[in-house]
Amino acid sequence: MRIVLLGAPGSGKGTQAKNLMAERNIPQISTGDMLRAAVAAGTRFGVKAKAIMDAGNLVSDDIMLGIISERLAEADGSEGFILDGFPRTEQQALDLAELLDEMRTPLDAAVLMDVDFDILMKRLTGRRTCSLTGKLLNVHFSSQQELDDCVNAGGELLQREDDNEDVIRNRLDVYRTQTEPLIGFYRKRGMLRTVNADGSIDDVYERFTAALQ
Ligand code: AMP
Repeated sequence: MRIVLLGAPGSGKGTQAKNLMAERNIPQISTGDMLRAAVAAGTRFGVKAKAIMDAGNLVSDDIMLGIISERLAEADGSEGFILDGFPRTEQQALDLAELLDEMRTPLDAAVLMDVDFDILMKRLTGRRTCSLTGKLLNVHFSSQQELDDCVNAGGELLQREDDNEDVIRNRLDVYRTQTEPLIGFYRKRGMLRTVNADGSIDDVYERFTAALQ
């Protein structure tokens, strides 16, 4: 199964992609995670990417095409993949279609994770990662117990640098202007499936897998 996950920052693409990856044994390919790994490695490219990401802007389409074509050439994607955070512009969607055409592995679907703006803001401003376990938590939605477990075990609740309110507004603006048009792009091609992504992780996962049938 080869799918693209569409949806605003905070719509739960990463969480749901990880669930599906565990169940179906196909890789989640998150361009955001790949870029953060380049930033952490401190490469020259990583330093440039960090400035763009910290401002909530998009890395150029050319660079993203290079990154994604190398990644899709790896063997673990031969049985399928879940693209999370790519494509983000119409040019990227066109590049992806061409690339997959050359590989003779067309996409099966583009799944939109649909959530209201207010919920997105809460999800993004409240998002934390436990420094010990890597577990994704949220100060608005996780139970006090889960938050305390991390801190009591000596962990810290880390916030992503691009999860502060100003940057979040810009990321949502960038989503609206550059990425949201992809909904029409995939609808026109008959590939769009929409999931109501408001609710608990388990409920959304159920709707997500139902949409893939
Ligand atoms: P994410 O974790 O998907 O929210 O991505 C974090 C940041 O990485 C974004 O705000 C962009 O700066 C950058 N990024 C990730 N994927 C892409 C992409 N497909 N095109 C351009 N920039 C991207």
